Amino acid sequence: MNSENFSLSEKIVSSSYIRQGSQARRGHEQLIRVLLEQGKCPEEGWSESTIELFLNELAVMDSNNFLGNCGVGEREGRVASSLVARRHYRLIHGIGRSGDIAAIQPKAAGSSLLNKLTNSVVLDIIRQAGVRSASSCFVVPMATGMSLTLCFLTLRHRRPGARYILWPRIDQKSCFKAMVTAGFEPVVIENVLEGDELRTDLEAVQRKIEELGKGNILCVHSTTSCFAPRVPDRLEELAVICAKHDIPHVVNNAYGVQSSKCMHLIQQGARVGRIDAFVQSLDKNFMVPVGGAIIAGFDEDFIKEISKMYPGRASASPSLDVLITLLTLGASGYRKLLSERKEMYNHLAKELGTLAQQHGERLLHTPHNPISLAMSLSGLQAHSDQAVTQLGSMLFTRQVSGARVVPLGVEQTVSGHVFRGFMSHAEAYPCPYLNAASAIGITRADVELCTKRLDKCLKSLRKGASPGASGATAPPSGLEEDQGDAA
Ligand SMILES: *Cc1c(COP(=O)(O)O)cnc(C)c1O
Repeated sequence: MNSENFSLSEKIVSSSYIRQGSQARRGHEQLIRVLLEQGKCPEEGWSESTIELFLNELAVMDSNNFLGNCGVGEREGRVASSLVARRHYRLIHGIGRSGDIAAIQPKAAGSSLLNKLTNSVVLDIIRQAGVRSASSCFVVPMATGMSLTLCFLTLRHRRPGARYILWPRIDQKSCFKAMVTAGFEPVVIENVLEGDELRTDLEAVQRKIEELGKGNILCVHSTTSCFAPRVPDRLEELAVICAKHDIPHVVNNAYGVQSSKCMHLIQQGARVGRIDAFVQSLDKNFMVPVGGAIIAGFDEDFIKEISKMYPGRASASPSLDVLITLLTLGASGYRKLLSERKEMYNHLAKELGTLAQQHGERLLHTPHNPISLAMSLSGLQAHSDQAVTQLGSMLFTRQVSGARVVPLGVEQTVSGHVFRGFMSHAEAYPCPYLNAASAIGITRADVELCTKRLDKCLKSLRKGASPGASGATAPPSGLEEDQGDAA
């Protein structure tokens, strides 16, 4: 209500009560004012009533909610189901215009404001999470793989002669497909084994640049967050190599926002060398439904160029979800989730280490991986050849999700390329192992239940008992499409 309506209300209900009510409303509006003024994530989370008030205010600014609107166009924001309308807070127009996902939509001032504010709040969080010098970002309604594709397609305009993308190997199909779908030829750089860890082979990257010629290389495509025993790429060194040879550098930071280490690597890489864009998943980092990603970078013009590559308008849902989430949590709530995650990582490492010891295995020493852990399954393998794959099925039937069993010698063809030792990020990793990740939102109960069930599975396998619950169908050791989604 505005002040005029409040005065009118005073004629109906005692004015002292109305004044109190109007002050209460001002409390909500004050929070909204600060958001509009600063474009930053509020330190403290908002109540649901403030958020709903704000979203309703945005929605009534869109033409589909104008009281006197008459539409004679082919896209008028009409929605048949009121359930669907409510699911989207009556924000029906999406974001962007046909030529640019970041452009203002004249029919939808509210949705346009939502889009700009979301990008600004998300940038604030990316900076707070450790990439202090990030200069711009935008939310795209596509998951990480497709968002990487969009980055590669944008670079093509800058380097029309380039055919290759140098890619330190990570066994996640979407990363590989992102390059192939964009029409480029991935050049797989095998990792080097250092202790238990698989790390970037910088010399191989240098050699490939010399061999192929820098003009033929579209970019280096590196990765931070990944399954142990692979660890985040040597981002600083890669960034320096890219700067030296004037080769673009795109970083896949899929679930790296939740780790200060991954974010620090990106910050440092951009400081000492070259990073053109880094891409992160909305669902993996912000606990929202699958469907969105953030493309961020240090050069506003380049990030703008990527947003202009997006053909057509786009769904506002991922933007709306992440904005609601960040307003609900506030920066302090998000920080709390991150510190709890870190604490659970230590707890998980300790529990897995103990369990490994009890079963004659060991927790692989992968200190450079801040999220994912791996426990060897060498003893189990020695006990019986099938036991390792059986463990995968057993965990699946016991509803332990995300724990990923990696047997030796899996061969997998992805878009025509044969990967030996697939899932393990190396052609011949020394032992089979099991992965578990401490990702945002994980609870102590998750850790406890998972280790308890894992313990049971390992015991029964060693006794040679038949695996799994009878009759249940399980995928073969998590080799299905979703095996890469444990985090
Ligand atoms: C999740 C993930 C991706 C992308 O998967 P999408 O389903 O496209 O979001 C890419 N790389 C890594 C390392 C991932 O974890």
